[in-house]
Amino acid sequence: MDVIIVGAGLAGLVAATTLARAGRSVTVFERAAAPGGRAVTTFVGPGADYALSLGPHALYTGGAAARILAGLGVRAEGRDPGNVGHVLHRDALHALPGSPWTFLTTGLFDFAGRVQALGFVRRLLFDDAAAHDRVSVTDWLAPVTDPTVQAWARAMIRVFTYANDPDRQSAGAVIRQARLAVRFGVRYLDGGWGTLSDGLTAAATAAGVTLRTAAEVDAIDTAGERPRVQVDGAWVDARAVLIATPLPAARRLLPELPAAPPIRAACLDLALARSEKPAARFVLGIDRPLYLSVQSATAKLAPSGGMVVHVAHYLAPDEQADVAELEALADRALPGWRAQVVARRFLPALTVASGFSLASGPRPGIVARPGVWVAGDWVGPEGELADTSAASAVAAATAILAAADAGMRAGA
Ligand SMILES: Cc1cc2nc3c(=O)[nH]c(=O)nc-3n(C[C@H](O)[C@H](O)[C@H](O)COP(=O)(O)OP(=O)(O)OC[C@H]3O[C@@H](n4cnc5c(N)ncnc54)[C@H](O)[C@@H]3O)c2cc1C
Repeated sequence: MDVIIVGAGLAGLVAATTLARAGRSVTVFERAAAPGGRAVTTFVGPGADYALSLGPHALYTGGAAARILAGLGVRAEGRDPGNVGHVLHRDALHALPGSPWTFLTTGLFDFAGRVQALGFVRRLLFDDAAAHDRVSVTDWLAPVTDPTVQAWARAMIRVFTYANDPDRQSAGAVIRQARLAVRFGVRYLDGGWGTLSDGLTAAATAAGVTLRTAAEVDAIDTAGERPRVQVDGAWVDARAVLIATPLPAARRLLPELPAAPPIRAACLDLALARSEKPAARFVLGIDRPLYLSVQSATAKLAPSGGMVVHVAHYLAPDEQADVAELEALADRALPGWRAQVVARRFLPALTVASGFSLASGPRPGIVARPGVWVAGDWVGPEGELADTSAASAVAAATAILAAADAGMRAGA
């Protein structure tokens, strides 16, 4: 066997497909009963026609994941929700300042606040991102003195990056991510986030990848000539091993990897039977780190008349969520929703990403040990979230191919 990949999430499947299409024999070991990792969608309801992903997701249309998936021929159909919606501040709903008109008319800002908010938008669009890579969001936002504008700027950063950790988050990464959103938009996916891993699993299988599910790798040994992993008590070796798990699982195999803070969120996922006209289809919390989106109003996720709604709390480090606060936000946006529940799921502390861009320094690179590479949303310099997973997976696959070519030349 040429390559062993540990983990069949987006990163493992992108790398497996890339390597198999380049002619390598690839086996993927996946601990769970099915591939997909965090990119899974469950179909619920009597007709199994409500698509519930693990919390709200949006694909950055101009990001690495969209580019790489398109290059592999994996479809990621959906629609851009646009910049319309509401913000919730001090228990009042205001228009989301998402266009020049709503910016001028929203009740969120007073006159002085509007001027400061425009200054923030100007910095978001024109500041030099690279010059702010080692600057924390907190420090970058220090000149924003109006408390409402400060809270709004933090809320925008949460929605762009999912992170609620401004003391540690890199302002440079935020600037890049915001520009990606403003320039190219995002897509809610028809059929849910799991369509990405379904498409990748089909592509990997068609390329000849061997996928072994319910197969947990519990050790790696790099003392010999070839790296090997232990699965179900047996050792299996290969020319190269790629660890494509979340960081905590990777650190169990490779303890020398540095720890990093994750991005976490609490999510209330709802399938609702009747789509009464909602008071708001999208709500961004300003003074509380909350989010609500009727994603089925944009993407194909529910049968006619039904709704799929994701409510989320962006968790600060060590913070816990209260489901009652998420339900109260749903009451605000969707009066009467409690009588319409087809399915509901509360996930109190999901790991959205096991790393993000920190002001303190770069994420780990793809090279772990001789013959061992890593990929995932905590690896490498490109993007955030799924973009980082996909970009590091391609970088690792490319490096594995280059190392094999170099080895062949050396051995010739
Ligand atoms: C609530 C939520 C919202 C999100 N929203 C967005 C969004 O809007 N936009 C965006 O771009 N991204 C978003 N993401 C992030 C995105 O889903 C992830 O970055 C991406 O799916 C991670 O893929 P991965 O392959 O790196 O890791 P994973 O999906 O975690 O896959 C890793 C796999 O490794 C397996 N594994 C672990 N240990 C072992 C072992 N020892 N042996 C074998 N297998 C093992 C796991 O079972 C898993 O299947 C969101 C995530 C969540 C949870």
